[in-house]
Amino acid sequence: MNPMTERDIRAAFVNCTKGEAKRLSVPRDLADRPWEDLDYLGWRDPRAPERAYLVAELDGGPRALALRCPSPAAGEKRRGMCSLCVTTHSGGVSLMVAPKAGKAGKQGDSVGIHMCSDLACSLYVRGMRDPGPGPRVPETLSPEEKIQRTVANLSAFFAKVRS
Ligand SMILES: [Zn+2]
Repeated sequence: MNPMTERDIRAAFVNCTKGEAKRLSVPRDLADRPWEDLDYLGWRDPRAPERAYLVAELDGGPRALALRCPSPAAGEKRRGMCSLCVTTHSGGVSLMVAPKAGKAGKQGDSVGIHMCSDLACSLYVRGMRDPGPGPRVPETLSPEEKIQRTVANLSAFFAKVRS
């Protein structure tokens, strides 16, 4: 994806108020992120790790989501599969919950998704990060096809949040 600035990112949130988008934590090292290897940029709030955010280029522009990541019960480390990049991890998948956009979100409606806890799907599909030991479903897709699938899954998730 193309590099984004803090201003691009703050203006891109679809499921929080303008005030929240202005105050939330955006990474300070945006210039150093490996943008060309990212399908989306995901990060956690360093002061509030149960808050996570992601931004992608969809429908021709930056689109960002605010997510809540309820911390799992102590010791609960289940194997799981990321619904975005379809990587299976031992304990590296979290349920992330996105408040819905607009009126539905204000009334408490949200959409959940199980995804890579470190929000690094882009690196897993490119083989740049190792999801750890354990059995995996063998796949014959090329990295390019996996990238397309990840972007399609992410786009579908955005559509659910905005529906
Ligand atoms: Zn993933």
